[in-house]
Amino acid sequence: MMAQGHMIPTLDMAKLVASRGVKATIITTPLNESVFSKSIQRNKHLGIEIEIRLIKFPAIENDLPEECERLDQIPSDEKLPNFFKATAMMQEPLEQLIEECRPNCLVSDMFLPWTTDSAAKFNIPRIVFHGTSFFALCVENSVRLNKPFKNVSSDSETFVVPNLPHEIKLTRTQVSPFEQSGEETTMARMIKTVWESDSRSYGVVFNSFYELETDYVEHYTKVLGRRAWAIGPLSMCNRDIEDKAERGKKSSIDKHECLKWLDSKKPSSVVYICFGSVANFTASQLHELAMGIEASGQEFIWVVRTELDNEDWLPEGFEERTREKGLIIRGWAPQVVILDHESVGAFVTHCGWNSTLEGVSGGVPMVTWPVFAEQFFNEKLVTEVLRTGADVGSIQWKRSASEGVKREAIAKAIQRVMVSEEAEGFRNRAKAYKEMARKAVEEGGSSYTGLTTLLEDISTYSSTGH
Ligand code: UDP
Repeated sequence: MMAQGHMIPTLDMAKLVASRGVKATIITTPLNESVFSKSIQRNKHLGIEIEIRLIKFPAIENDLPEECERLDQIPSDEKLPNFFKATAMMQEPLEQLIEECRPNCLVSDMFLPWTTDSAAKFNIPRIVFHGTSFFALCVENSVRLNKPFKNVSSDSETFVVPNLPHEIKLTRTQVSPFEQSGEETTMARMIKTVWESDSRSYGVVFNSFYELETDYVEHYTKVLGRRAWAIGPLSMCNRDIEDKAERGKKSSIDKHECLKWLDSKKPSSVVYICFGSVANFTASQLHELAMGIEASGQEFIWVVRTELDNEDWLPEGFEERTREKGLIIRGWAPQVVILDHESVGAFVTHCGWNSTLEGVSGGVPMVTWPVFAEQFFNEKLVTEVLRTGADVGSIQWKRSASEGVKREAIAKAIQRVMVSEEAEGFRNRAKAYKEMARKAVEEGGSSYTGLTTLLEDISTYSSTGH
């Protein structure tokens, strides 16, 4: 799927599979080739062979701008259905490629539901990649089937998500409007097709690890009865600094400059703030965030991805006042390099699953600020199940974060994780999960074994046809 949050783990998955001597081919569109090509080139000398095949993306044919080949490039939400229609038009060329390459298995994104039929035509298994946690899929499944949001009378009243290992409470505002709407919109139909094709697929591969969400791996596989493999954290397959620094795009800051800045700071003293590749913040929310960061009194690295002019959102004198304390990265940051540095003491995150898991792998406590998608579910995993983070109180599912979160709440959540009497508890738990993640991907660990099982299952399918 053409979105950074889906392509980055896909590349890591291909590297991992190829490192086990299995041939991996990545299929993407021409303008997304660069996300994969450099890293693939770099890994060639390690004997990791990955092929890239391209399929033309019919943007213009679907009334999208010519250069629009990624989810974050869609000009407005109204064009989302156009984007999915364009991806569906890739079915025929994909099937031609399968005919030519004759793979043993097709791993495809949840947003490409028609690939279940493509795989069936060639009698190969389709394995779905959702790019999220077991926890989020368990919550989503319960919300979709039980519709507990119908039992409350207002948007702010909480409801319990039924039949889960923990008591998880949500409000209507935290659940996607697509999920709640009874209307037959194009997007609602699309989501329905996603779940229908998911249930007809061979199984689901997860960028997660057993020890992180044991209850939910068990729930998903035993109670919901799905075949699944946990093979993450995928980002940990990158040992080379170049591979860690350049994920998805070239960083806007030189990694050595960034490391030098971090090296000059004390352990666990820096707050890293970044909201992934899609979530947008309005000028007033960015302003409020700046004031909150300053009020927290902590040192920081803040990644700002906005087209707005400074004077529209940056508080007057902010950069001068925080010159010693902070580093603003405009554009794209070497996130994994930063999160793995010992000076980082907290991660203010939108709870996109890749970011959440990269925070876990770095052993960094989190300040959670979900915006949309399943980010509100991942927040609950972090704050209530793992207890490695504190929330800022963002409760409104919205494609663009507006002025809902106030500076006092931002400063308070940062201080809670960094310097309050609870801080040590957050840090200790986060460090323990980092250690579990490290063990999971080592030879013999749960995710290492998960990948072995996945490859064996594909091999069995190839020889028996099921
Ligand atoms: N990322 C990065 N630098 C940035 C912003 C994001 O390397 O400045 C990477 C991040 O490490 C993660 C991915 O982009 O791997 C974002 O995925 P996530 O699921 O966290 O969020 P999304 O972008 O899908 O909302």
